[in-house]
Amino acid sequence: MRLFKERRYISMISSERDGEEVTLMGWISSIRDHGNIMFVMLVDRDDEIQITVKRDNPLFTRFKELKEHSSIGVKGIVKSSKNAPRGIEIIPTLLEVFSISKMIPPFSIYSKSIPNMDLRLDIRAIDLRRNTLRSIFKIRYGILKAIREFLDKNNFIEVNTPKMISSATEGGAALFPIFYFNREAFLAQSPQLYKEQLTMAFDSVFEIAPIFRAEPSRTNRHLAEAISVDVEKAFIDYTDAMELLEDLIIYSIEYIKKYNIKELEILNIKFDVTKPFPRYTYTELIDRLKEYGAKIEWGEDFSTENLKLLGEMMNGYYFITDWPTKIKPFYAKPKSDAKISETFDLMHNELEISSGSSRINVKEEIIERMKSQGLNPNSFDYHLRVFDYGMPPHAGFGLGLERFLMTICKLDNIRDATFYPRDIERLTP
Ligand code: ATP
Ligand code: MG
Repeated sequence: MRLFKERRYISMISSERDGEEVTLMGWISSIRDHGNIMFVMLVDRDDEIQITVKRDNPLFTRFKELKEHSSIGVKGIVKSSKNAPRGIEIIPTLLEVFSISKMIPPFSIYSKSIPNMDLRLDIRAIDLRRNTLRSIFKIRYGILKAIREFLDKNNFIEVNTPKMISSATEGGAALFPIFYFNREAFLAQSPQLYKEQLTMAFDSVFEIAPIFRAEPSRTNRHLAEAISVDVEKAFIDYTDAMELLEDLIIYSIEYIKKYNIKELEILNIKFDVTKPFPRYTYTELIDRLKEYGAKIEWGEDFSTENLKLLGEMMNGYYFITDWPTKIKPFYAKPKSDAKISETFDLMHNELEISSGSSRINVKEEIIERMKSQGLNPNSFDYHLRVFDYGMPPHAGFGLGLERFLMTICKLDNIRDATFYPRDIERLTP
């Protein structure tokens, strides 16, 4: 594209360029037409600028034909202007119209919150043009960069494991069956067993990839397809894994505080996060909840109501440790009192954002745990066989990227932490 070669990004244009001719590309966020003068706001990937067109400008009638959201290229002279946003405006000398919008979106891109999620999701690409949403997704990218940088510094290597698998890892209920040639297979709920195996050769591994869960209920914290940050390391236990996770969270927050200043300002977010995060045992919290009059018995998982109560008692990130063995997956390592396991959840108020544990590295023990959870060890033959070759002790965690982003951006609905959410009702767009 001829014009594209000269293209500048709007963020690069300041009053220092007063008098220069620049070429900009983008879309129109608003048009204010005052008869003899019109103000057109042009937006590109990270900024916005005013184009001022007076009646005596030869392009005036062509600008009159434009509509919001249209895709255009503009060549023009930068001019300092006290009244324009950011103190500058563009006086256009050339207009290239790439695509005129035919529809007016049912919401304004300047709205901070629009209650109707389905309306927004139906035209998500336009919804994402809103400043608040764009900020959320830039912070999401910041978190991803921070996580990779942190794990790289700590000598982890990034891996990719199969997403089409033959058996469940997190219990049987929440699987998506698929056709795999002439057999039944499933979409992976987690890379759990693969990442554990990979510690044998690589010691410290991580994967950032989708997990698939056929969650049957419509909640604001479950997706059928989510991104999991899975971390696994040899020769550590669950207390080390908790410290690693804590450091990862702090590193990510410091990173976006440094690199996403503008986005944090748009979302009006401030942080006050320090380590160590408080740690409570499962048993301690059950006792506390009971004192509160909550209905829960030792051995049960926390219901949504009980999580709400916990959320009211807590302030920010905290760990719940030492869960009953029977409500944690088979690969989690029991303590010497086998009723309790070397496990943890990282919570943020009422929201679980990560689960982790020391893992069993002895074949007989893991077979025992599979059986007591009603799983058939034969269907895990491909996994159990590597235990005969000296599996090191290891521990790790799975961190839900969207859940983590919810805590950072203070989102009520997980659907705003992913571009195209998948849930029980939505398979499009
Ligand atoms: P929950 O109890 O909230 O349903 P879980 O305990 O079933 O979560 P895990 O198997 O422990 O989830 O998965 C590890 C992490 O992956 C969770 O802590 C969460 O952050 C994320 N995660 C799991 N399932 C989902 C989902 N359906 N949607 C979004 N994130 C998820
Ligand atoms: Mg969990």
